[in-house]
Amino acid sequence: MDFAQKRFFKVKNPSQHFLCALCSTPRQMKYKRNLSITNYLQLTLLGGSLTYFLYPLFGAKTLFLTFILWMVVEVANKILYRNELPCPYCGFDATWYRRDVKVAKKKVQDFWNERNPQAPAEENSEPMQVNNSNLNAGKPAINDELSAS
Ligand SMILES: [Zn+2]
Repeated sequence: MDFAQKRFFKVKNPSQHFLCALCSTPRQMKYKRNLSITNYLQLTLLGGSLTYFLYPLFGAKTLFLTFILWMVVEVANKILYRNELPCPYCGFDATWYRRDVKVAKKKVQDFWNERNPQAPAEENSEPMQVNNSNLNAGKPAINDELSAS
């Protein structure tokens, strides 16, 4: 059985499939860390038409408008990506795992405490057992993040 094809949470038009590095459940993500070529083409087209129609009104300021539009789209994509990244099943966030394992561990613990408030908070010092092959499966998302930080 190909577990990568199974899913519990439905993601519309997923752009990437991988297994969660902590709980090994199949994951899909709609957003990528960086915009795609198609997105840039759309931005160029939109910016071009904006410039074409608004240039007579605002002159050179229209070019700034295009850059502001570009920045807004980039930031929006980044926020959506960051919101989507933590695993919906276990709360594992690969970006935080790469950046700071303690923070990543705390995020997973908070995730479980939120869902199961009756359980006593575990205070063990065991390192998080992360499946490295799964972590590498999510490579496009994670390695880009690593090289950027
Ligand atoms: Zn998970």
